Formats: sequence, C-alpha cells, structure tokens
Amino acid sequence: MRWRWLFVGAVILLSWSSVVSAGAPNNPNILIILADDLGYADVGFQGGKDIPTPNIDSLAQGGVRLTNGYVNHPFCSPMRAALMTGRYQQRFGYEGNPAYLPDDEKVGLPTSEVTLPQLLRGAGYVTGGVGKWHLGAAAPFVPNKRGFDEWFGFIGGGHVYLSGTRGSAENTVPLMRNDEPNELREYLTHVLEHEAAAFVKRHRGKPWFLYLAFNAPHRPLQAPQDLLDKFAHIADKNRRTYAAMVHAMDAAIGDVLTTLRETGQEENTLVFFLSDNGGLLVPNIGPFTDNTPLRGHKGQVYEGGIRVPFVVRYPARLKGGRTYDEPVAAFDIFSTALAVAGATPPKDRKIDGVNLMPHLAGERKGAPHDFLFWRTGGPNGVRAARMGDWKLVRLANGKEELYNLKDDIAESKDIAVSQLELLTKMRAALDTWDRELTAPIFLKWTPSFGQPER
Ligand code: CA
Repeated sequence: MRWRWLFVGAVILLSWSSVVSAGAPNNPNILIILADDLGYADVGFQGGKDIPTPNIDSLAQGGVRLTNGYVNHPFCSPMRAALMTGRYQQRFGYEGNPAYLPDDEKVGLPTSEVTLPQLLRGAGYVTGGVGKWHLGAAAPFVPNKRGFDEWFGFIGGGHVYLSGTRGSAENTVPLMRNDEPNELREYLTHVLEHEAAAFVKRHRGKPWFLYLAFNAPHRPLQAPQDLLDKFAHIADKNRRTYAAMVHAMDAAIGDVLTTLRETGQEENTLVFFLSDNGGLLVPNIGPFTDNTPLRGHKGQVYEGGIRVPFVVRYPARLKGGRTYDEPVAAFDIFSTALAVAGATPPKDRKIDGVNLMPHLAGERKGAPHDFLFWRTGGPNGVRAARMGDWKLVRLANGKEELYNLKDDIAESKDIAVSQLELLTKMRAALDTWDRELTAPIFLKWTPSFGQPER
C-alpha cells in the first residue's frame, strides 16, 4: 500500500517537473511601453546627452537594443494599427490618422481586425491599457470593445497634460476609466504612471498584458514648473519643456519597473519600449527633437520618421546588455507576444509580424524579414523598402533613391544609378507588396509636416 502511494507521488512529481523544465517560463507578463514622437537621439541609450533617462536606459542595459528597429508607419495611428494587428495596416486601408469623430462608426480600426489584447485575453491574460488610444473614437472602436479588460486613458490622438489648460475637444476629453469619466487632477504623465504601476501590482500572480501608451513627449509642450526648473540650463524654451516631458516619462517608467521588481515579476515579464514614430523636426513648430544621425522626421519614410529607439527586455529568457542588428518592426511585437503567451494568431488572414524570440535568443540565424515595406499617403503617396543593408525610397513623384544604410545611415548618398540590379529587385518586391494593399478607408493628413523634403 505504502509503495503504491510512493509510486503515485513519484509520477506526479515527474510530470510536474517536466512541465516546469519545458524551457521558457510559462505565461510571462507582457508590457508594451510606447512613447509618442520621441526623437531617435533623445534618450541616453541612443546617445542623447542633455536629457537624463536612467530608467529607459536600464531597459537597454538589462535587455536587447534593436538597432534596426522600425515602426510600420511614420505617424501615430496607422503605427498603432500595425502593432495591434500584426499586419501591414495598409492591408485594411489604414493609412491616415482618424479624425476625432465619436459619432462616426466608419473612422477607426476596422472591427473585422483581430487585436493583440483580444487574442491574449483568449489565452487567459488579464489585459489592460493606459494612455493614448487613437484607433477610433466611436462606440465600436473603444478599447474595452477591442480586447481590453481594463482601460484608463483618452480616446483621441493627444491630450493636454495640465489641468485647466485649453485645447481642442479631442485634447480635453475626460480621462476614461472604462466608461467612467475622470478629471485631470495632476500632470498627465504622472497620472498614467500611477495607473500603470497599480495595474502591475494589482494583477501580480496572474499573467497580464499591459499596453502603456504615453502621449509624452507629443505636443502640446507642457510640463510642471518643478520639472522645467530641472532643465533651466537648456536655453531654448521648447527644448527645455520637451526635455522635462521626456524626463517625466522616464521617471514614470522607472516607477513601473520598480513595481515589477518589488512584486517579484521582473524576471518573467517581457518588456518592449519604443517610440511610435520619429521626432518632429519642422522649423515652424520647433525643432525641439533630435533624430541624429538620421535623415528626416515624423511623417517621412526616411529613417528619421520610421527608425526608432527600440528595446526588448525579458530576463528569464534573453541575456541582457546586447544589441540585435537585423531589421525588425513594431508588428513583430504582436507575433512575439502571442508566441510567448502560447496564443494563436488568426489563421484566416495574412499576419506580417514575426516571432522575434528565437532570433533574439540566438536560436535562429538569419534575418526575421527578407523585406520591410512602408507606404504613407495612399496610392499617390511615398513608399520605402528595406532589404538587408539596402533601402529604396520612392517619392510621390515616382523618383527612386537607393541607400546603403550600413555605410550611410544618414541617407545622404543616393546610389540608385550605380545599383540598377538591386534597384530592380527591390522595386519589384515593393510593387508586389503594394498590389496586395487595399485603398485607404480614410485619409486625414496634416500638410504642415510629413511631406517629402524634395
Ligand atoms: Ca506619434
């Protein structure tokens, strides 16, 4: 009798240990931290000097810096559409920023698209969002309808940071906790900080997904006086305010990371940090950001619009303090997150993102993507393609430029005429991709930025 129970005990123990030792930890938490319009060189780990960002830098020190990390669009909303769906957003006609139209049920992320939080929720995750939504303001598009169990933030493309500040209807809407309106009572970046840290604490012990989408350091440029005083040495007023905003965001991220550590969740949380597009460098609105050494800015398909500060940290599985240099893009976050969560992507549509985990862990050689493509402004807009070290840019007038980014990250030497074979190959791939796309469902464009330089 005793032996029988011993045998049963041994079987239970063995099967338990085989589950635990199956390789990667099960169900890591997933945290996406998105900055808004952050310049390429405006954080320490990217070489920035005048804005201390020790907390964001700590992610790079403990994680993997993606040196060729891209977003799938050079401005806010379409970038988020790719992040949420794992797809080139032009496949469903999403190429513009949606106007703030709470009554228009056509302007938003199509409800036929399946979102990352929806899929993670299906895999048993608690899903939360904090901050900026910008994927449609009408009832069918709100975060609680798109997979988020818990939401705190604002529905449009931006928000004022200080209470009592005037702004557009979009930028002054109440902050929503699910469907309950809240007043802005302190500096908005601090509010988002507290909400995110509380989420991390509250859901300790179950697998969770948190999408922390700061609007910082997007305009309006606003910071509280005590933070502005810290940057009194920066003469330019816009740059000083912007620096204070980036610094506040860094402190907020520090609070969330500390909460992760203190609640014992640091090891088993997969963290992504990136900006949603490049810094805005337009003379009449600044310039107050720094995209050095890249060419161009938000709105453009030159590197300054689409290559962003991008880090992934996952202590349980990825050795930190490294760089990964193959081109990757924000929609890879979708596929990577689903893979680590054991969730299944939809099979009835093309998913363009790739699970980066085997690549980052050194288990799989070779580039995750043969090509990456961009198009903004619809069929009459500008396009770009990346293949290995090469980048093709096609302007709206049809002119094509070719750059070798390994030798020329600043896209200063157009070598299209001397590389006709490469140009032809990349052009063909770009055109094939382009033919798979759908006509834009809406196109709202702000002409004050984003037009090609020439
Ligand atoms: Ca943005």
